[in-house]
Amino acid sequence: MVPILLYHGFTDKSRHDGIENYHGKHLYIKRFEEQLIYLKKNYNIISLAQLMAFYVEGKPLPRHPVLITIDDGYRSNYSLAFPVLKEHQAPACIFVATDFIDQKSCLWVDRLEYAFSKTEKTSLGLDLGGQKHHFDLNSMQARKETDKRVKSILKAMPSVEAARAVDGIEEQAQQALSMAAGDEIYAPLSWEQIREMQASGFVTIGSHTCSHPILAHCPEEKIKSELAQSRRRIEEKTQVPCDYFSYPNGQKGDFNNAVKAQLIASGYKCALTTMIGTNGLKTDHYELKRLNIHNSGDLGGFKRSLSGFGRFLRAIKNGSFFRAQLAQY
Ligand SMILES: [Zn+2]
Repeated sequence: MVPILLYHGFTDKSRHDGIENYHGKHLYIKRFEEQLIYLKKNYNIISLAQLMAFYVEGKPLPRHPVLITIDDGYRSNYSLAFPVLKEHQAPACIFVATDFIDQKSCLWVDRLEYAFSKTEKTSLGLDLGGQKHHFDLNSMQARKETDKRVKSILKAMPSVEAARAVDGIEEQAQQALSMAAGDEIYAPLSWEQIREMQASGFVTIGSHTCSHPILAHCPEEKIKSELAQSRRRIEEKTQVPCDYFSYPNGQKGDFNNAVKAQLIASGYKCALTTMIGTNGLKTDHYELKRLNIHNSGDLGGFKRSLSGFGRFLRAIKNGSFFRAQLAQY
């Protein structure tokens, strides 16, 4: 079973202002380095190309393989993570949303977090999907709850409506995250940084669409263009084939058979989800599972999530999970 680790951004701050990074999407860089040292000692960090050569051509994998993947395309992948990856000679695949790299727009989840973190309003009345909602912003805890609730409502909406809702929220909150504002944590990589990382031989670039929509909520034409145009843009800017894809949000229900068919038609060789699990011989190449690494817990928690998962899967296989271990997981 091959575990694929999922990271997003990195930070050199141990504390953040407001509700910034409350969900732990940006990992403290010292924690990442500790994890990498542990992985180098106990696992063999392989590339996605090695995993696909195993699946497609039957090429053997080293013992205890593990993969590092990073979604979205934050600048901290270059400024903080890349030096660490190089130092420890660890390969990684970075999946970028091309509109973000092209600086057309910040990621919508970040725009919401920023608006709820910075607004001077103490409450907001919002019309979302034809329903009126009232959100409390009176305390940091209330702002976190509001951010979580609004994100989950928007994730269930058609992509065009969700995008319009984000504009409306920024307007009401009177706070809008902009590329020019220089909020480092939310900033994207540049194409130059991408090319430099790729040229090092340690980093592979994959597509994460153009505008990061939930593909199952998009009409067919939009699915087609998000998959084909992002691939074309990456290839045009890097001059290297772009064969790998990761689904925005990536849970069951965020993609469907129409999306998978389009991925194959667009020439992608595999696609990665955010569904938790490791990958075996029979895993669908267009539904590869990952383990999401958050900025919480110590190295012990990281080790447990890697090895604990193996135990969990073995326990399910031999049935003991249901007899004795249910409470643990
Ligand atoms: Zn993403």
